[in-house]
Amino acid sequence: MTAVAHRPTAVVTGASSGIGEATARVLAAGGFHVVVAARRLDRLQALAAEIDGTALELDVTSDASVAAFAAALGDVSVLVNNAGGAKGLATVAEADLDDWRWMWETNVLGTLRVTKALIPRLVASGDGLIVTITSIAAVETYDNGSGYTAAKHAQSALHRTLRGELLGQPVRITEILPGMVETDFSLVRFHGDAERAATVYEGITPLTANDVAEVVGFVASRPSHVDLDTIVLKPRAQASAMRAHRV
Ligand code: NAP
Repeated sequence: MTAVAHRPTAVVTGASSGIGEATARVLAAGGFHVVVAARRLDRLQALAAEIDGTALELDVTSDASVAAFAAALGDVSVLVNNAGGAKGLATVAEADLDDWRWMWETNVLGTLRVTKALIPRLVASGDGLIVTITSIAAVETYDNGSGYTAAKHAQSALHRTLRGELLGQPVRITEILPGMVETDFSLVRFHGDAERAATVYEGITPLTANDVAEVVGFVASRPSHVDLDTIVLKPRAQASAMRAHRV
């Protein structure tokens, strides 16, 4: 009889598309049992079947959904806080309060709810890791972007606070700050306007979701005493949120 190797569990939020979906694939290839979580269960189920993982419905903006999600989980070694995104591009003078609420609920309070629920299990694993996907919007501001940059700054502050609060516990803390990545991000930001979303990536080779996922995989495969604290990655042709070289 051959022994079945134990696979530590990694939870990836927002795994139904983009960076989260690619991260689930990379972590599964790296030997993790990956729990893929988001609201679109059909997409998660297809992914879980492909990577021999587990699909669980999760709305990070709902206390009840996060509680039910946490109750359905067993041991957890890795948490990737990836669920999030942007809505709209508006000046402060014309800010849409509903878009702001969506961004804060998803990126900030969503990360808080899930992290808070899973910290005890990450500590109990004896070798935990929390990766939070923030953005270069967590360290920059840009015109018309205040709802997203403010939310990403807050999500980053929450995440970085854990570095001190969990000091002495067996949990590593990594923040990943991507620049431009071609995913459904801009489609969501522009409320489904595909033509407008496509203009964001015109004349530039953006990062792919897999480019970011491979960095998460590298982080998760370091020895447990090595904490990759903060990682910024951008396309070669992007200098800052508002400055890119387009051809
Ligand atoms: P994406 O393809 O739109 O993926 C966003 C994911 O978040 C989806 O799986 C979505 O799943 C999930 N999500 C949204 N609201 C949720 C909720 N209430 N509960 C649970 N899951 C929710 O975009 P992406 O680019 O991969 O974004 C992933 C992360 O990277 C986000 O935090 C984003 O801010 C960050 N980021 C993106 C870029 C970029 O240029 N693309 C750059 C820097 C940082 P459901 O809709 O199925 O729930």
